[in-house]
Amino acid sequence: MSTYPVIRLRRGKEESLDRFHPWVFSGAIASLPEGIEEGDLVSVLTHDGKIAGVGHYQIGSIAVRILAFGDRVIDAAFYAEALEQAARMRLAIGLQRPDNTAFRLVHGEGDFLPGLVVDIYGDTAVVQAHSPGMHFAREVIADALVSLKAIHINNVYYKSDTTLPFKARLDPVNDYLRGGNADAVALENGLRFNIDWLRGQKTGFFVDQRDNRSLLEHYSRGRRVLNMFCYTGGFSVYALRGGAERVVSVDSSAKAIALTNANVALNFDTPDAAGRHDAVAIDAFKFLDGVNTGDYDLIVLDPPAFAKHRNALANALRGYRRLNAAGIAKVAPGGLVFTFSCSQAVSREQFRLAVFSAAASTGRRVRILHQLTQPADHPVNIYHPEGEYLKGLILYVE
Ligand code: SAH
Repeated sequence: MSTYPVIRLRRGKEESLDRFHPWVFSGAIASLPEGIEEGDLVSVLTHDGKIAGVGHYQIGSIAVRILAFGDRVIDAAFYAEALEQAARMRLAIGLQRPDNTAFRLVHGEGDFLPGLVVDIYGDTAVVQAHSPGMHFAREVIADALVSLKAIHINNVYYKSDTTLPFKARLDPVNDYLRGGNADAVALENGLRFNIDWLRGQKTGFFVDQRDNRSLLEHYSRGRRVLNMFCYTGGFSVYALRGGAERVVSVDSSAKAIALTNANVALNFDTPDAAGRHDAVAIDAFKFLDGVNTGDYDLIVLDPPAFAKHRNALANALRGYRRLNAAGIAKVAPGGLVFTFSCSQAVSREQFRLAVFSAAASTGRRVRILHQLTQPADHPVNIYHPEGEYLKGLILYVE
């Protein structure tokens, strides 16, 4: 039996919990216990006094993130079990292999651990807390990670300075919680990547594009590839291995260009891969302005989330339309456009509509060859469809 402070729901507001949706919205709450603090563990009671679940409390529209339905003590054993389950799933689907040491171990709600993200790079786990509750649990989580049986982890790096709610004033410090002498090279499908979790964006690498990069490799032979928003050069390195005639990587950040060049060199001896690769630090729209139709046979458009919040949606859709119109207009006849949106606030349908109107504005004949999504290590909890965020299309442009 747990003994957490009790949050009572308004009448009828347990419906979504009955369907295992892990969020309790503030509007569903009848009363908050006195003295409750952000990050506290709470028991959520239905109006007639039944325990619906246990979770982390937080100020904001999502007031409780449920960790367990029904009654349950959230202790070290809880985290150890949840992380072992997550690890076992990655092993079962063959993601942890000698030639693939980079993958996501915990994808928040998708692994029944709302507020927690853990990416694995070799024997290092990079942990991001998105909720105060997970921030307070970080030491227990670190212990559980280094004790995992399914995966051998020596280093745990905590990196939550940009993911925790700013108003919570938790002042998280990015630092190693365990270990610290880590090898920063990880493998993805046999390709080597320098992962800079100390200074890089997010956990240092975007592991969510692994499957889509493989697909790109498959289509790269003999093509001139333009990789827009290249960051660490993931798509570029796959294109080079796939036999692309030439690859140009573009990112507005000079640091990203340096990372891309380093990763190309790591796999192909030199940053220019024997004259096949070039990387340019420039704004994407400015670069595309200077591209002539026919210069590239395959264009990747993988921008940052244009809509970080719902109220930025209209602007974001305009951004996707403009970017895709440029990409579709410029690709060579018979060429491919790999286009993505990682904005959770943009639905699959809205993204497709934005790409549709972009295509229409170019007047070219466009067919969708593949509809892409996030990989298996970013699972979607079936009760939490909001967990689906990555959307992509591969277009064939005549
Ligand atoms: N495709 C990458 C991930 C892209 S992340 C991968 O597979 O790992 C988004 C990248 O877009 C970041 O590196 C960021 O520096 C870059 N970026 C953001 N705004 C940009 C702009 N206006 N022009 C060019 N690059 C931009």
